[in-house]
Amino acid sequence: MNKAVVTSVRALMKNAVYDAFPGVRRRGPATSRRVALTFDDGPDHLTERYLTVLDELGVPATFFLLGARAASRPDLVREYRRRGHQIAGHGFDHKRFSTMGRRELLEQCARTEAALGGQLSGRPWVRPPHGSLDATSLIHLVTAGYTVAMWSLDPRDYGTTSAADVVQGCAGMTAGDVVLFHEGQDWTLEALPRIVADLQAAGLECVTMHDLFAT
Ligand SMILES: [Zn+2]
Repeated sequence: MNKAVVTSVRALMKNAVYDAFPGVRRRGPATSRRVALTFDDGPDHLTERYLTVLDELGVPATFFLLGARAASRPDLVREYRRRGHQIAGHGFDHKRFSTMGRRELLEQCARTEAALGGQLSGRPWVRPPHGSLDATSLIHLVTAGYTVAMWSLDPRDYGTTSAADVVQGCAGMTAGDVVLFHEGQDWTLEALPRIVADLQAAGLECVTMHDLFAT
């Protein structure tokens, strides 16, 4: 079997496991006409511009923050919240969860929660850095009470510097999708108005990840 097929079969199996595992959120209901835009790795020097663009578009989003960065910018942490966005953890320093033992992993998450000042969504949400998660780290997180947030659509905004590529990467967006973006990138920022216009034209509404999965 060629390598691309093996890779895509692996991804399908992984997604099937995530979809069946309680405490993991990857894709929302396809019946609701809603999608969630998510942004990893902030806060940083472009956060205020991201927040301004989202304000202008009138859409809420979900931000997965690094604990170390959040701890150094409590002003921005407050600002995400004040503007109606969901904030959640993305590890303290972006170290892969799958390389840590239980104690170190939960300590990373707890330090991040402290930097965020807690989350409003009940069970705190966390997205693993690099999407890197093995069965052991997944079980540690879920049994410690975390909701693990993955994604269903990756426009690969980290693999380009072109806004057009990011827009194109979102072309297949459908109801229930959780879309993975990153902070700190001019091209992602530049792509947002077009992406939001396209999804609204398709009859889709942006909500936070928490709201997408709320029943
Ligand atoms: Zn990340």
